Amino acid sequence: MAQTYDDRKIVKAYRDLAREVVKREDLYRLMDQSALQEQTQHWLQKFQEREITERDRIYIFALVREAARRTVGLEAVMVQLIGAFVLGDGKIAEMKTGEGKTLVSLFVMYIEVLRGNKVHLVTANEYLAKRDREEIGRVLEYLGLSVGLNISGLEKEQKQAIYKADVIYGTAAEFGFDYLRDNMVRQSEDKVQTSLDFVLIDEADSILIDEARTPLLISDRKEEDLTLYGVADTLVRTMLTDDYEVEEKKRFVWLHDAGIEKAQRFWGIDSLYAEEHQPLHRITTLLLRAHFLMHKDKDYVVLDGEVLIIDPHTGRALPGRRFNDGLHQAIEAKEGVEVREESRTLATITIQNYFRMYKKLSGMTGTAKTEEEEFRHIYNMDVVVIPTHLRVNRVDNEDEVFYTREQKGEAIVYEVSWRYERGQPILIGTSSIKSNEWVSELLTKAGIPHQVLNAKNHEQEAEIIARAGKRGMVTLATNMAGRGTDIKLDKGVYTLGGLAVIGTERHESRRIDLQLMGRSGRRGDPGFSKFILSLDDELVDHFDNKRWESYVRRMKRKYNFDDKPVHSRKVHQLVIEAQKRLEGSNYDIRKDLLAYDEVIDIQRKKVYEERDRLLGIDKLGAFSERILREVAEDVFSEREPDLDAGYAKMGELLGGTKFPHSFDQVTLMSQEEAVEALIFWHRKQRTKFPTGTINQIEKEVYLNLLDQMWVMHLDQMVQLREGIHLRAYGQQDPLVMYQKEGAELFTNFQDRYHFYFAHALLELDPEGLVLG
Ligand code: ADP
Ligand code: MG
Repeated sequence: MAQTYDDRKIVKAYRDLAREVVKREDLYRLMDQSALQEQTQHWLQKFQEREITERDRIYIFALVREAARRTVGLEAVMVQLIGAFVLGDGKIAEMKTGEGKTLVSLFVMYIEVLRGNKVHLVTANEYLAKRDREEIGRVLEYLGLSVGLNISGLEKEQKQAIYKADVIYGTAAEFGFDYLRDNMVRQSEDKVQTSLDFVLIDEADSILIDEARTPLLISDRKEEDLTLYGVADTLVRTMLTDDYEVEEKKRFVWLHDAGIEKAQRFWGIDSLYAEEHQPLHRITTLLLRAHFLMHKDKDYVVLDGEVLIIDPHTGRALPGRRFNDGLHQAIEAKEGVEVREESRTLATITIQNYFRMYKKLSGMTGTAKTEEEEFRHIYNMDVVVIPTHLRVNRVDNEDEVFYTREQKGEAIVYEVSWRYERGQPILIGTSSIKSNEWVSELLTKAGIPHQVLNAKNHEQEAEIIARAGKRGMVTLATNMAGRGTDIKLDKGVYTLGGLAVIGTERHESRRIDLQLMGRSGRRGDPGFSKFILSLDDELVDHFDNKRWESYVRRMKRKYNFDDKPVHSRKVHQLVIEAQKRLEGSNYDIRKDLLAYDEVIDIQRKKVYEERDRLLGIDKLGAFSERILREVAEDVFSEREPDLDAGYAKMGELLGGTKFPHSFDQVTLMSQEEAVEALIFWHRKQRTKFPTGTINQIEKEVYLNLLDQMWVMHLDQMVQLREGIHLRAYGQQDPLVMYQKEGAELFTNFQDRYHFYFAHALLELDPEGLVLG
C-alpha cells in the first residue's frame, strides 16, 4: 500500500534521527562486550529516575546496531532504524517481506527492557519463535539481557523460569493460554505469567486480524450421548430441498414444515419445538448446519480420520481447535469419522481482548495499511508504511479475467508452462484446498512437475518455501502458507525475471493478495505478478447484486466461446467491489465477535480480579461473615410474604447444618433476630476450629465455588449467545438482549456462589473435622 501524507511526515522525521544513529557508528566500536553490558546497566539505572529522551534513543540505537553487527553480522540500514522508531511509538510498521523486520524488532525490545518493561515477542508459529529467539536473542544476551522461549507443553516450573527473562518469544496462543491457565490456579505461586507490559507482534495482521476470528478456548469433556449425532445424520441425509432453507451468507439453515414433520416422525415426537425435545431439536439443527453450511476442504479438512478446521484466511488447518458447541461432532458424524466428546468451556478470551490488556502494543508486517481502520478502532494503533531499502523491481500486471473456469485454467497452464520451460521459478497462489487441487491436476496433465503447500502438509512448510526460489521450481500454495520464511532466489534466476507469482483467485481481502505478491521482488530482486481470474470464481459468484448478475450472464452468453480475457473496466470493477464487500462483512463479523465478547470480558475481569485478591490473602476474615450476613438477610426476609418459598430457601441454607433453632422458632423471630442468631452461632462454631485450619478451609471452599460456578456461568453465556439470534425478532437488537440477559445471568451467578458459600460455612462441623 502506498504511504499517506502522515506516513511521509513521520518517516521524514525519523530519517533524520536514523541519520544521527548511523553517524555514531564508531562510538561503540571499540568497546568490548563487558563495556557494552555496562552501558545496559547504566541506562537501566538512568531510566528508573527519568524518561527516555530523543537523544538517549539515538545513542541506544547506535549501541544496539553495533551489537548486532558484531554478533550476527547484520548492519541495520536506515529504513530498519526508521521502522524501529515507529515500533517504539506503539504503532504498526508496514515493511515488505525480506526487509529484515526480525532485526528491526531488536531495537525496540532492548529499549523497552531499559524502561523497565517485560517484553513479549509474538510470532506466527513456534518454528519462527525458535528461529528468532536464536538469532536476535543472541544479540540481546550479548548486551546482558535474558531471553526465554515460551513453547507449549512445558511444566509450571519451566514456564516460571522462562517468564523471568527480560524478553520472551512465543506464539499468541501460548501467551494467551498461559494467561487463562494462570487464572485457574489455586494458589498464586502456581502462576507463570508475570506482567503484561509490552508486546511486539510480528506478522501483526495475521495474528490481530486473521487469527482473531477464533477465540482462545480451554475446555474439558462434557458428558453426552454421542451416538445421537450419527442417528441425526441419517435423518438429515433423507432431507430433500423442499424440507429446508439455506441462507448461505447469514450462515443460517432452518426447516420448512415438510422438514419439521419429517424430523418429528423420525424422532417419534409430537413437536420438535417442545421444551422436553430441545436436545433433539438442537442435534437436528447441528446436523443441518454440518451438511448445508459447512463445506469440506473449505471450512474444514478430513485428515487421518480427524476433522480439522481450516483458517479461512491462511488456508491452514488448525489442529487442536474445534468448532464450538457440538458443531464439530456434527461434522464428524457427517464425514463418518469417530465422533469425539463435546467439550465444555472452562476459560476463554478473544485474541483482541487478550492483547488489549498489555500496557503497550506494537506490530510489524508486510501488509497492514489496508486494515488501518481496524487496527485503530480495535487496538488503538496507527499503521506507518516504511519505504523499502531498495526500489521494488517487481512488475505487477493487471488482472486477466476470463469468462469461464475452463478458459482460466488454460490460461494458467499457458502462463506457467512457458515460464517453466525457461527455468523461471513460479509461485502459484490459490485460496482454497479445492482449487489448489484443481490447479495441481491441470499442471500434472500438462506434464509440469510442482510442489504443493497447503493445510494438509504445513509441517514441511519451511523446506518447501526454501526450495521455491530454485531454477525451474513450480510451487502451488494456498494463501499465505509459509509466512515468515523467505523465498531466496537461486543465482541463475535473476536474469530470468526472478520469482513469478501467479494468483488464481482474488482472496477475501486485498491484503492477502498483496502478501502473495510480496513473496516476489524482495530486497530489490526482479519479480513478476499477475492474477488470472474468471467470472465463475467464487468471489464474483457470491456477489449478490441483481444488476451485476444479469450483466455477467449476458457477458458469458455473448463471449463464452471467445477465449481471450474480458476487456472491460466494468468487470475489473466488479471484482474489486466484490472483494471490498467481503472485506467489509468479515470486518463486521470480527466487530460482532468483539462486541459480544465485551460482555464476558467485563465479567471475566471482575472474576479474575476477585480470584487474584483471594489468592493474595491467606484468610477471608470479615469478608466471609459479611457474605453470610447478606445471604441470611435475604433468606430470612422472604418468610413473611411467602412462607413456603421462605421455608424452601431456609431449608437449602440450613439443611445439613447443626443450627440449634428449628424453622418454627426462626419464623417467630424478626429478620434481625434470626440473622443475629445465625451469626452468633456461626462465630461460636468457628472458634472450635484451629485458626489456621478454618481460614484455609474458608478460602479453599470459596475459590472452589467461585470456579465451579464461573464455568457453569460461562457455559450458560455460550448457550445464551447461541440462541439469541433465534429469539431476537423484529425490533429487538440481539446484542442488546445479550447484554441485558448476560448481566442478569452474572448477577445470578454471584448470588448463587455466595449462597452456596454461606451454606458451606454453616455446614462445617468441628466435631466431624478430619484434619489433613
Ligand atoms: P522480513 O521478516 O522483513 O520478511 P527477515 O527479517 O526474515 O525479513 O530478513 C530477511 C533476510 O534479510 C534475512 O536473511 C536477514 O538475515 C537479512 N537481513 C536483514 N537485515 C539485513 C541487513 N541490514 N543487511 C543485510 N541483510 C539483512
Ligand atoms: Mg519476518
